[in-house]
Amino acid sequence: MAEIDSTGDRTLVPAGWTYAPAPESREVVELRGRYGLYVGGEWLEPSETYETISPANEEALAAVGQATPAEVGKAVAAARDAFANGWSALPGSERAKYLFRIARLLQERAREFAVLESLNGGKPIKESRDVDIPLAAAHFFYYAGWADKLEYAFPNRKPRPVGVAGQVIPWNFPLLMLAWKIAPALAAGNTVVLKPAETTPLTALLFCDVIRQAELPPGVVNIVTGDGRTGAALVEHEGVDKIAFTGSTEVGKAIQRRLAGSGKKLTLELGGKAANIVFDDCALDQAVEGIVNGIYFNQGHVCCAGSRLFVQESIYEPVVDKLKRRLETLRVGDPLDKNTDVGAINSAMQLEKIRELVDSGREEGAEIYQPPCRLPEKGYWFAPTVFTNVAQSYRIAQEEIFGPVLSVLTFRTPDEAVEKANNTPYGLSAGVWTEKGSRILWMAQRLRAGVVWANTYNRFDPTSPFGGYKESGFGREGGLHGLEPYLRFDE
Ligand code: NDP
Repeated sequence: MAEIDSTGDRTLVPAGWTYAPAPESREVVELRGRYGLYVGGEWLEPSETYETISPANEEALAAVGQATPAEVGKAVAAARDAFANGWSALPGSERAKYLFRIARLLQERAREFAVLESLNGGKPIKESRDVDIPLAAAHFFYYAGWADKLEYAFPNRKPRPVGVAGQVIPWNFPLLMLAWKIAPALAAGNTVVLKPAETTPLTALLFCDVIRQAELPPGVVNIVTGDGRTGAALVEHEGVDKIAFTGSTEVGKAIQRRLAGSGKKLTLELGGKAANIVFDDCALDQAVEGIVNGIYFNQGHVCCAGSRLFVQESIYEPVVDKLKRRLETLRVGDPLDKNTDVGAINSAMQLEKIRELVDSGREEGAEIYQPPCRLPEKGYWFAPTVFTNVAQSYRIAQEEIFGPVLSVLTFRTPDEAVEKANNTPYGLSAGVWTEKGSRILWMAQRLRAGVVWANTYNRFDPTSPFGGYKESGFGREGGLHGLEPYLRFDE
């Protein structure tokens, strides 16, 4: 309990709040010791397995299949069979029923999914509970609504499904990325083979249970777990008609090279180095909250994270002061504690990458600030970090860190802000903080970013298309635009 101080004006103020532990129970999740590959509505015993762990304490959670090219081939064959023998010919209103069922089941089992997501991925339970899982369900609801309206969505263009979609997703939003990929694909009449990231396969495997409950016909959704080799086998398989990939720019480029000339459709949602731009007429406290949400949400493992903060010079000091004070109040620790703001780094490899880039920031001359916080001894952890004195040329201002690390830069005029914000190979997202609507529109027209948030950050909605420019990839997910990559048109 906090001690109470008397301020003299009769108000009682706590001298220092401490939070009692508020752990979410793990009991709602029933882990199997070993998981197979989900192919044609059955669990296929994998020829090889690997162990998936909890990044918060390195506890082994389960053995999971490492799908070989031959096993990927079986999944593609099951998807082809389901496509040809029923699913693609099903009326849209029937497909919609399955999608609605999946959405409802995700809602019913939301707590189970949230706990498992935090356990396997390290993200705070309040994020998986309030953001990842509700948004995943919302995506299925949203695309269920489109399934019987494709003719209206694309009038006079005779939309038809593409066929078998191969989908490769990353570890930062495992179930949400699965929903972004599977919901529009099924709504459009395709079948799917999906590969979750190596480090976070468990919610995708639990999702197989949901599609069984929803009585989705066998083979419509197949899940093959494994590392990058499994992803590569899926991308290269001749029986796949369309590839949807979310992940690093490096792997995205390799996939694009691999598919050139193959006739396969491709969408790539890759990295980012977003500018969060704060003008001197903004609501300062609100902006500071937006900066914190922009970079420390999900430990900064967010492709659209506001990792470059551009502050108008006249308000540089108050912004940095407020930001540092706010950082001291962030609670870093157990992902399953309901009070935790910043959880564990997803993997040892990612932690190493963050450390390497942070070291480079120090060496290049930037000034580092980390609030005092005690990090757990086991597991993968990194304290929320702010760099000031950053030059545009520093690696921390150029490369995607994908961790809780913010680089602060300054500008004087709107033109300079645009110039600096666009000075990156990426173009996924940006944020603008100002009280002037005209300035928001002026900036949005000039920022080369797929999404521009105004006086908010990291807002997602299934109705809103998301995707990048330049090295952040191409194609859109979400909204009406998100259906197009899963359709062919007879024009
Ligand atoms: P990757 O791009 O390697 O991973 C994304 C997905 O692609 C994973 O499922 C991965 O499998 C799979 N994959 C890996 N290699 C291949 C391949 N040759 N062919 C097909 N699929 C493949 O990202 P990492 O996990 O290695 O992260 C590295 C960096 O990428 C991060 O530090 C971050 O900067 C960035 N990143 C960006 C994301 C975004 O949303 N924009 C998401 C994730 C990472 P596996 O998990 O087994 O490696």
